[in-house]
Amino acid sequence: MSEPQETCEKAQALWEERSDDIRGDAVVAQALERLEEALATLREKMRAARMDRICRVCGEHNDGGCCGASVARQVDPWLLLAGRLLGTHATPMHDDPTTCCFLGPDGCVLALKPFICVQYDCREMIASVDPGRLAAVQQARDELLDAWVVVESRLRELCREDR
Ligand code: SF4
Repeated sequence: MSEPQETCEKAQALWEERSDDIRGDAVVAQALERLEEALATLREKMRAARMDRICRVCGEHNDGGCCGASVARQVDPWLLLAGRLLGTHATPMHDDPTTCCFLGPDGCVLALKPFICVQYDCREMIASVDPGRLAAVQQARDELLDAWVVVESRLRELCREDR
């Protein structure tokens, strides 16, 4: 079994075991609200900077662009669990060894991507995006990371084996 597949199975097992506790937890609910706002802001800033379009065009012409197979190993059960809370049940989309298995026909299938994906700006991006817009995107990324830290730490706490 591949590493990403194992990660998905671990997330699924945690979801089956702990989803009632997780969904009923006030800290998670509040942190998730902040996370969703941060995600929406980041999407809006990326669209304004036309970064989504640059990624899409690059991916179409370069076998998935920068979504290489090894990045899938950065996906952990916490990202997948939070994705479930956001309504997305992501599983590997293919077993092509050259691209990330979470890359579907319409792009990444994860509600929350690993931070290496969120943070990465390729040369094309840096060269073509207005620096002011890029700075606004970076600010939105920082807020997303801050919100994520709270969600992840609470999920870890709720899923501790000794609870
Ligand atoms: S953005 Fe999604 S599909 Fe692309 S490398 Fe990251 S996790 Fe994989």
